[in-house]
Amino acid sequence: MNLRQALKEAEETLSAANIDDALLESEVLLRHVLKIDRIRLYTDINSELTPQQYEKFSGLIQRRLNGEPSAYITGNREFYGLDFYVNQHVLIPRPETELLVEKAVDLAKKRSYKTIVDVGTGSGAVAVCLALNLPDAVIYATDISTQALEVASGNSRKHSVENRITFLEGNLLEPLTEPVDMIVANLPYVRNADIQQVSTAGHEPEVALNGGKNGLDFIIAIVGQSVSKLLRGGSILLEVGQGQSQTASRQLKGIYPYGEVDIFRDLAGIERIVGLSLPRKTRVIS
Ligand code: GLN
Repeated sequence: MNLRQALKEAEETLSAANIDDALLESEVLLRHVLKIDRIRLYTDINSELTPQQYEKFSGLIQRRLNGEPSAYITGNREFYGLDFYVNQHVLIPRPETELLVEKAVDLAKKRSYKTIVDVGTGSGAVAVCLALNLPDAVIYATDISTQALEVASGNSRKHSVENRITFLEGNLLEPLTEPVDMIVANLPYVRNADIQQVSTAGHEPEVALNGGKNGLDFIIAIVGQSVSKLLRGGSILLEVGQGQSQTASRQLKGIYPYGEVDIFRDLAGIERIVGLSLPRKTRVIS
């Protein structure tokens, strides 16, 4: 069996089980077995698989059929153009979260922010991208899960930014000892009743998905905690679930009536990022 035939067979098997992006998923798993990039996959498409390679590939397709996400099978997910190690202790970074990074980087540059915290860092993808794109910033990253922090610090070493990020274990902003210029967070926001609808349910840690009855428990909690953790002139940027942006902005406005709210839509048109920026520090010139 050659690579082309193996891919076709796997694609058909996955599509028959209603798995989205069956060809792409098959490619990712085959590349993982052969340890080759996508270009090599297609230049070698007519070469033969050894029986051992075929057996290994079939085993991975079987795991995918059982619902295990391919990012956990390969231990890797690309985010913001970089490779991140992931395992079952962390949420697999989603494409829409790239918007959170993009807006955070823009805002930090525009307002010359120096200290930033990524709350509920998980795999550390957001914190690492902020460190790489804001070379002068001091980054903190918190998580309540020890195992997630291990993954995150591994990713900071993978991208050589371990000296730029301080990892803190604890609930949301509680472990942060000093106020910062910017708070960035992609917290669990799936409604309790909707958890089973998440395609990776049962594989991703529930603690990374479940936002309580309305999905807003952590968003409400972080806004409350931020009062003592946000510097004057600072900003908060939160990723939210579909239909949550108005409640999130009301929470923010309730606590920071002078702040300016910005809402950004993701590529699917969903209001995904809610930001609040406090008026800039005014300098009195005498
Ligand atoms: N975006 C994820 C999903 O819909 C949820 C991630 C989160 O709760 N922060 O599956």
